[in-house]
Amino acid sequence: MSARDLDGRAVLVTGGSRGIGRAVVLGALERGADVAYCSRGGADDAALAAEASGRAPGRRLLALRADVAVEEQVEGFFDAALSALGRVDAVVSNAGISREDLLVSCPAATWDELLATNLTGAFLVSRRAVRELVSRGGGSVVFMGSLQQYGSPRGAAAYATGKGGITGLMAAIAWEHAADGVRANQVAAGYVDTEMTSHLPEFARRRFLEVSPLKRLPTTEEVAALILFLCSARSAGINGETLHAAGGVREMFL
Ligand code: NDP
Repeated sequence: MSARDLDGRAVLVTGGSRGIGRAVVLGALERGADVAYCSRGGADDAALAAEASGRAPGRRLLALRADVAVEEQVEGFFDAALSALGRVDAVVSNAGISREDLLVSCPAATWDELLATNLTGAFLVSRRAVRELVSRGGGSVVFMGSLQQYGSPRGAAAYATGKGGITGLMAAIAWEHAADGVRANQVAAGYVDTEMTSHLPEFARRRFLEVSPLKRLPTTEEVAALILFLCSARSAGINGETLHAAGGVREMFL
């Protein structure tokens, strides 16, 4: 049973329909929060709604369709979430895509598509989040980062750039809005089994396990637990930090 350290709070999550975001949605509900999440795919996720009402009866869950790369849709997501939940205490900027491409072979269209979601999306989401949290006296913004911000021999120039940019965005918010009671932090994962990594070659997963001191991958729930800790008042003294969820691995070897 999770601590109810988000009791009475409202948490907004981007990319909540599957993977790490889904674990954040369910974990936030179990910890006592009402939750609104968005994805491009669907507003009606009956399976997630059923699991949520089983695991966290009485909590409100709102599923919305929004593309974080599109400003009006981000604004619409916040408007709908705030009008339904009446408050916001923490925002998790998790939505992301990955594309494998070495710099020299990366088409400009791939670069643009990836950064539109992973970096501009994080900017649009965190900008509105900070505006709302400042006007409500404070709160927490949590980004989903990656060890790939330090690069990777397999090649992911656009992805690395997007995640590196998130580190700068987080640091900017941490400095600019600490006095307003708004904290910004990120969780940087290495390799987690989700739909995103299911497209990678098997040797990549094997290689990560080889270099991992723990010799196992963190689960989506374990990554979500760190994110939710950063959402809660239990992390009140933590600002501008990167918490790693990679089993002791500190850079990508694959
Ligand atoms: P998944 O592909 O499993 O889930 C991604 C989620 O984001 C889905 O809900 C997807 O829904 C949503 N999404 C994607 N693009 C958009 C968009 N433009 N607007 C709104 N929602 C969007 O990925 P993971 O759970 O693995 O990844 C989540 C985050 O964690 C990402 O930021 C990723 O970069 C990061 N990460 C993942 C790691 C891993 O090993 N899995 C390691 C390090 C970081 P839909 O497609 O319907 O929009």
